[in-house]
Amino acid sequence: MKGWKEIPIGGMIVDAGNAKEYKTGSWRSIRPIWNEGKCTHCMICWFSCPDNCIEVVNGKMVGINYDYCKGCGVCAHECPVNAIEMKPETEFLGKDGE
Ligand code: SF4
Ligand code: SF4
Repeated sequence: MKGWKEIPIGGMIVDAGNAKEYKTGSWRSIRPIWNEGKCTHCMICWFSCPDNCIEVVNGKMVGINYDYCKGCGVCAHECPVNAIEMKPETEFLGKDGE
């Protein structure tokens, strides 16, 4: 962890393109749960996610990157087949090392 002398004044982020260094998933209070069986791989969630958390391989959705997902719920709202359900983080306490 950086000391106060190494942090830019005001905590400003001065380098461009560094979002990957800041894992924001710990901010989340609700978690999107993907139902693979319902998914039609339309990619609307990928297009809609403001944090680029929808994981895609060969043009198909394969999961959600929880390291960066803030739990905004946009993906669940936009999914046309309700393949993403938002659940409280409290349901996962102690289940995935958190
Ligand atoms: S929006 Fe829904 S159906 Fe489309 S890729 Fe995402 S989860 Fe699958
Ligand atoms: S909840 Fe928000 S940040 Fe998380 S995957 Fe869905 S759209 Fe992206």
